[in-house]
Amino acid sequence: MNDQYSQSKNKNQNNISHTNTRLVHVGRDNEASKGFVNPPLYKGSTVLFPTVQSMKDGGYGYWYGRKGSPTYDALEGALNELEAADDSILTPSGLSAITTALLGLLKQGDHVLVTDSVYQPTRNFCDTTLRQMGVETSYYDPRVGAGIAGLIKDNTRVIFLESPGSQSFEIQDVPAIVAAAQPKNITTVIDNTWATPLFYQPLTQGVDVSIHSGTKYFIGHADAMIGTVSSNGKAAEAIRKTAYSLGICAGPEDTQLALRGLRTLGVRLKHHESAALELARWLETRDEVETVLHPALTSHPDHELFRRDFSGSTGLFTAILKPVSDEALEAMIDGLRLFSMGWSWGGYESLILPFDPRPYRSATIWPFEGPALRFHVGHEDMKDLFDDLSLGFDRLGAVS
Ligand SMILES: *Cc1c(COP(=O)(O)O)cnc(C)c1O
Repeated sequence: MNDQYSQSKNKNQNNISHTNTRLVHVGRDNEASKGFVNPPLYKGSTVLFPTVQSMKDGGYGYWYGRKGSPTYDALEGALNELEAADDSILTPSGLSAITTALLGLLKQGDHVLVTDSVYQPTRNFCDTTLRQMGVETSYYDPRVGAGIAGLIKDNTRVIFLESPGSQSFEIQDVPAIVAAAQPKNITTVIDNTWATPLFYQPLTQGVDVSIHSGTKYFIGHADAMIGTVSSNGKAAEAIRKTAYSLGICAGPEDTQLALRGLRTLGVRLKHHESAALELARWLETRDEVETVLHPALTSHPDHELFRRDFSGSTGLFTAILKPVSDEALEAMIDGLRLFSMGWSWGGYESLILPFDPRPYRSATIWPFEGPALRFHVGHEDMKDLFDDLSLGFDRLGAVS
């Protein structure tokens, strides 16, 4: 789409006001779709070339199912625009987006700095596959800021960020970290899944690579998995080459579901945002709760950084309870009727997840004693969610 809502990548997209209009238009070409609102779903392996000459000239612009299709182009083009990226690739899951990017940017003998608040399977990849390859990982305090300069070694090639941190919700000072990385030619990579490109565009702050588990808010209905890597410059080239070399490609149906999810991302996130904030503020008033870790709350220690860099918040946050017995916690959670327990998030349904991050933190000390509960607030009526949790707290109180 070459209309006024297709923004050039050089504009600062942080304060763009046409977001929802752009979400309706990105990645659509009504002429190519013969008038249908949505691009067609292209499925296939073999791409035919009518003549030898056309094969030499690149045929219809596609080569082989794994290496691109009009369906992939539509989502990749939309992501380039939303993330202000030179290139985006699609992978079968968020984790494979992270591993493909890191494999593309690191080689034997290199060192990578990874935030201690990183998604646990990312840490697992660093501690197993990367270690076997001869790549050394150091974990750093997500609140290190400009202090990252003191952790950089001669062979540091990548700094991996995730903001807010998985489960623990620290906000990182991304511009300070980029400022330390750029003069040393270190590539910065961020897991941007929580904010989506609607609420944070890290490439406009100089980050080289932005990764999403599209499984969460892009797909938005817990019915498919996809990963995306959007990048600029040399990183973009290295990552696409690595994806081809590894044979990484996303499923066509999942790609189409992610593209469809983008159309309603703005309105869905608005509801996730207000519902999660309402619940977080209510939890802050409960006697059973020690603290709530949600960066859009003024009580959050990184709230000022959050306000500086993000234009909104989404549906995922953590509440720390005051210490209680395991039996009391189980009585509370097992009896909930609307908040279900499950990994993943980003769908229309509310979730609750008890967790203990201590086995997978090494650079920082988890300061809380009581149980940690990660909430994802979905699209149910708020009164029903409050009633469900109030009864849960009653059960907790009755046991402890
Ligand atoms: C879920 C998640 C991933 C992994 O995504 P999958 O699609 O489940 O592989 C990566 N990063 C974050 C922050 C996540 O929440």
